[in-house]
Amino acid sequence: NKSGKSHDFTFKLLLIGDKAVGKTSIMYRFSDDKFNPSWLATIGIDFKIRTIELNGNTIKLQIWDTAGQERFDTITAQYYRGAMGIMLVYDVTCQQSFDHIAKWLRRIEDHAAEDVVTMLVGNKCDADMRDRAVSKSRGSAMAAQHSISFIETSAKVGINVEKAFYDLATAILTMV
Ligand code: GDP
Ligand code: MG
Repeated sequence: NKSGKSHDFTFKLLLIGDKAVGKTSIMYRFSDDKFNPSWLATIGIDFKIRTIELNGNTIKLQIWDTAGQERFDTITAQYYRGAMGIMLVYDVTCQQSFDHIAKWLRRIEDHAAEDVVTMLVGNKCDADMRDRAVSKSRGSAMAAQHSISFIETSAKVGINVEKAFYDLATAILTMV
């Protein structure tokens, strides 16, 4: 913030992307530092809160987890509006989830605020090379093409999940 004084903020973040890419797992890895391979598919919408310190500011991150299923679109559309940051998640072992990125970006354009900060997240980077469908460079190129930031994560092992949320919060903090 411009005054240099510390402030308390609440940032609303939204996780979107195809079903089973790991949105719920990313949220729980960040909020509870846990991974459970047998979570049920998210029904509708759920949220978790974690407070972080960033440049002397106390920031409450309210993380909304949406269901990827098409039939829940009417429920989730209204959550785009209040979001200050969006993680668009795909699965690096699932080509189809990568092919759907353009569709998700259109949804952001249609429903989210114009100044929303969007981050492309390639999850499951712990996967065996033989299971890889999308290389890191293709993910990076896709993000560059749409002028958004990019990171690969593993909710399972706990790679870059902290960094993803801190980077997103940092980007939002420069705008408030
Ligand atoms: P969502 O539908 O996007 O919320 O996805 P979930 O969080 O429910 O995860 C879908 C499946 O992928 C589950 O079986 C998870 O255990 C698995 N999964 C999630 N994140 C990772 C990850 O980082 N690595 C691996 N290998 N599997 C993951
Ligand atoms: Mg889920």
